Amino acid sequence: MIEFESVTKRYPDGTVAVDELSLKVETGQITVFVGPSGCGKTTALRMINRMIEPTAGRILIDGKDVTTRPEAELRREIGYVIQGAGLFPHRTVLDNVATVPILQGVTRRDARSSALGLLERVGLPANLGERYPSQLSGGQQQRVGVARALAADPPVLLMDEPFSAVDPVVRDDLQQELLRLQGELGKTIVLVTHDIDEAIRLGDEVAVFAQGARLAQFAPPADLLAA
Ligand code: ADP
Ligand code: ADP
Repeated sequence: MIEFESVTKRYPDGTVAVDELSLKVETGQITVFVGPSGCGKTTALRMINRMIEPTAGRILIDGKDVTTRPEAELRREIGYVIQGAGLFPHRTVLDNVATVPILQGVTRRDARSSALGLLERVGLPANLGERYPSQLSGGQQQRVGVARALAADPPVLLMDEPFSAVDPVVRDDLQQELLRLQGELGKTIVLVTHDIDEAIRLGDEVAVFAQGARLAQFAPPADLLAA
């Protein structure tokens, strides 16, 4: 479980991006942070893996304050997927997925063979493994981004607008793929989106962020719709 305990982030210019946020992300569920641009979703997400440090409050993962955890350990435990996939442009698709495991000491051969399996899992044809990211469609790149994040087999996956850069048909397909993978792998996922329909479709729990860095609602989709 990931717990935000009255977490505030004030940037050096005085902007309060997150204001005393408290919520719990349950293990094995998809929790969605949704809301308009600028209401602090990305800032909240990036504090989970310490890409951004809170100004006040604490974030606990399984009861441990993230600020006491070595960053290398957090990187292994928490995968990260961003809009546009953020792939290494000068490495092939297969190497994009295999690189982190190789850095962690897995042999090149084993890493590449698991990478192939992962690409299959996210619905990418194996013959695309030797291509470079620029030779793939946006939707395909996004699949590679998910495969790369899964390669270290992290229990937690952070996803920041993972499907925003692809067209609606591909988005639909990727959303279904994510739900299928989630059913299969049972990861703890925190996903940021500005799209309320996506939040309702994917979220076990939905945190609705409002202007002014406030949390307006936090509930399962069915309860949001009833409110
Ligand atoms: P969202 O993900 O909901 O669009 P962000 O977390 O990116 O929101 O941003 C929340 C607020 O913090 C916005 O007002 C944004 O302009 C501001 N902000 C984000 N990053 C910085 C930064 N590095 N320095 C100053 N202000 C920032
Ligand atoms: P999507 O609907 O998934 O975004 P696109 O219509 O963009 O797909 O691409 C369709 C096909 O064209 C894909 O199989 C993709 O591999 C291929 N493709 C797209 N861009 C390139 C490129 N620059 N070089 C080679 N193949 C490409």
